[in-house]
Amino acid sequence: MKSLVIAIDGPAASGKGTLARRLAASFGLPYLDTGLLYRAVGRLVLERGGDPARDQDAEAAALALQPDDLARDDLRGPEADRAASAVASIPGVRAALLGFQRGFAASHGAVLDGRDIGTIVFPDAGVKLFVTASLPARAGRRYAERLAAGAETNLAEVQADLAARDEADRTRAAAPLKPAADALLLDTSTLDADQAFARAVELIRSVVNSASPHGGQGVEPQG
Ligand code: C5P
Repeated sequence: MKSLVIAIDGPAASGKGTLARRLAASFGLPYLDTGLLYRAVGRLVLERGGDPARDQDAEAAALALQPDDLARDDLRGPEADRAASAVASIPGVRAALLGFQRGFAASHGAVLDGRDIGTIVFPDAGVKLFVTASLPARAGRRYAERLAAGAETNLAEVQADLAARDEADRTRAAAPLKPAADALLLDTSTLDADQAFARAVELIRSVVNSASPHGGQGVEPQG
């Protein structure tokens, strides 16, 4: 079978990262959190004393990005969120990151999550999921995550930051957040991580097995 690419897009804190990681382990595919690329570019700009919203600063950082930068321990939190969102709206940054994302899945397939995986990065992905959840559900999850990480946090601020980031991601001209025409929708507002995973596996089986010439000869999770 040709290497499978599973593209998972959706707004912040929709549960897509947890789901994508689990699907990758289960289907035996490499996993790439593409948000980390934008977060690392934003961090690099800040570290160099630049402005993440300035084209030249952000593009230079994107071109200088090294794989090790994705393992930095300062890529989460409100400052990193805002810097990532700013650099992500710059077309030259997105263009600089495209080759790495496509190359990542080239030999063995992959699960990738982000905002434009099914629309721009892998328009021919074998499976496309668009994962959503209501704003209060997403804010509640992100707030709980931050509390658990010992960060000082406030639910109203977390919700306002998420809403602002989603608005910027949806309305930007370059690769806006939107479901691909052939994406399957998964709303996780009332689902826990196990339920979201089970539903996603059902959706993936239905797509892959119906695309298989022998019906039923498609992929199956390994675990
Ligand atoms: O997914 P995560 O919240 O870590 O992404 C951080 C930011 O990076 C998003 O708010 C978005 O602006 C940007 N992003 C993007 N395209 C992707 C992944 C992330 O524009 N494929």
